[in-house]
Amino acid sequence: MACFKLENVEDLYEIREVLGSGHFGQVREVCERATGILWAGKFLKLRRGAGSRLGLEKEIVEKEVEILQSLQHPNIMALKDVFESKAEVVLIVELIRGGELFDFIAEKESLTETDAIEFLKHVLEGVRYMHSKHIGHFDLKPENIMLSDKRAPNPNIKIIDFGMAHCFLQGEEYRCMGGTPQYIAPEIINNECLSTAADMWSIGVITYILLSGLSPFQGETNEETLRNIVELKYQFEPHYFSQTSSMAKDFIQKLLVKEQSERMTAEECLIHPWIKPLTRTQIAKRNRSSINMKNFRMFNAKRKWKMSYNMVSACNRLCKLKLDCKTNALEKQDLRSCESDQEDTETKTASLLRRRLSNSS
Ligand code: ATP
Repeated sequence: MACFKLENVEDLYEIREVLGSGHFGQVREVCERATGILWAGKFLKLRRGAGSRLGLEKEIVEKEVEILQSLQHPNIMALKDVFESKAEVVLIVELIRGGELFDFIAEKESLTETDAIEFLKHVLEGVRYMHSKHIGHFDLKPENIMLSDKRAPNPNIKIIDFGMAHCFLQGEEYRCMGGTPQYIAPEIINNECLSTAADMWSIGVITYILLSGLSPFQGETNEETLRNIVELKYQFEPHYFSQTSSMAKDFIQKLLVKEQSERMTAEECLIHPWIKPLTRTQIAKRNRSSINMKNFRMFNAKRKWKMSYNMVSACNRLCKLKLDCKTNALEKQDLRSCESDQEDTETKTASLLRRRLSNSS
């Protein structure tokens, strides 16, 4: 059972600038008064009552806290403390100063596959550890992969945001809808029983984007994206993958596999020849191949623009919801599973698509 402190967080920490925002609150820099050490505070609004759609259920926050408490790994954001008041829960976590990995890469002139693999290895090590504890993240995407310090010679990767994570009990059947269309595995869309393999699919998508600046399943609409995923409709367009090694493509192909049990695990990824080459020829191939930087920068700029746009529309929706709450009694709904990030219609689209697909089969 997660232990939340009831003291006022401001008595122990000075609250400073905003570092980022999510659906349920802000992340701010905080300074521990006793030591002067800087941390990040994740302020999560709690749902006020059964009829409210604003804020998170306490059990959902407890789940995130319990999972973070059970994870201690250099590539996973560490949790220090948790405070609770009537209206919110504050998670005091390790301050991650280096920003998002994708932003860091986008600033580079050029990057070989060997350089990119160093970052990917860190992600895989964090995920291997998490999966060894039967924990799935279920929201792996570029926004949740950060760098500890981008000025360090070998910056360390930190996986953040365990708001969708789940710890599997033995023999448990777990289903959950949610996530960001571009990165979610087909079994999530099909509402099948999930396993930690869903994270491996997302790593396949992230790697594909990292190398080419293209998103493998992206359609014109969320619905088209989800359909492309369940139909496994993707290809390595020669124009975008001209600088990519065959080993890298093989790595991706072994992750974008529909059958969960046939997908590579994090453990297997770490010994794939692209990640851990065995011969000189394999090493040379990796060094000769590079990231399509021009296209990657374009992808990243569009992604950032979309994030800001979604943040503004999320704020607008929140304002509208607050107004509605005053006049209407709203139906009970679990917002966390419906809105794992700033995409507008993702879960609605997913359930719509599922209904359509099952009607047509
Ligand atoms: P979502 O609505 O996507 O579930 P969330 O409310 O769970 O978001 P996070 O994704 O954990 O919040 O954090 C929101 C943003 O705050 C991140 O995208 C990141 O920019 C920033 N952030 C989160 N954790 C840290 C940290 N430990 N150090 C620095 N910045 C952080």
